[in-house]
Amino acid sequence: MKVRVRDIRLEGLEVTEDVVAETLGFEPQFDFKFIKPLHVEAKFERVDSTVLVYADVNSRYESVCARCLEPLEGDWEKHFNFDYQVDSTIEVIDIGDDIRQELFLNLPARILCQEKCKGLCVGCGVNLNNEKCKCK
Ligand SMILES: [Zn+2]
Ligand SMILES: [Zn+2]
Repeated sequence: MKVRVRDIRLEGLEVTEDVVAETLGFEPQFDFKFIKPLHVEAKFERVDSTVLVYADVNSRYESVCARCLEPLEGDWEKHFNFDYQVDSTIEVIDIGDDIRQELFLNLPARILCQEKCKGLCVGCGVNLNNEKCKCK
C-alpha cells in the first residue's frame, strides 16, 4: 500500500484498500489463514519531517481449535500506528512491509472454538464436546 508524500495535505490523506495477505508475503499457515483480503483503512498525516500513519486492518480467518481441532472461523481486527521520516528525496511511502510484520506479531496465539472446549480424549480421541468417552 503506497502513497505519494506530496499527496498528504494539511488535512491528511485517507486511503482505503483491500490487500490480499499473500501479496505482502504472508503465507497461509496450516492452522491459520485469512479467507478474505485485508481491509485496510489508513490515515496519513504529515508533521514536519514525520509522516504518521493510523491504520485499521480487518479480515476474517480460518483456523482450528487448539483443543478439539475442529475447524473454525473468526474475525480479525487490529489497529496499528506507524511513523516514517521523510525528506525531499522521499517521494513514496509504502506501509506494506510494516503491515506484514505486524501481522506476524498479532496473530492469535491459541484459538479455541469456545472457552470451555473440552478437547479430545487422549485415550480414544473422541471430541468430548460432542461425544461421551468410553474409556476408563
Ligand atoms: Zn474446541
Ligand atoms: Zn476416551
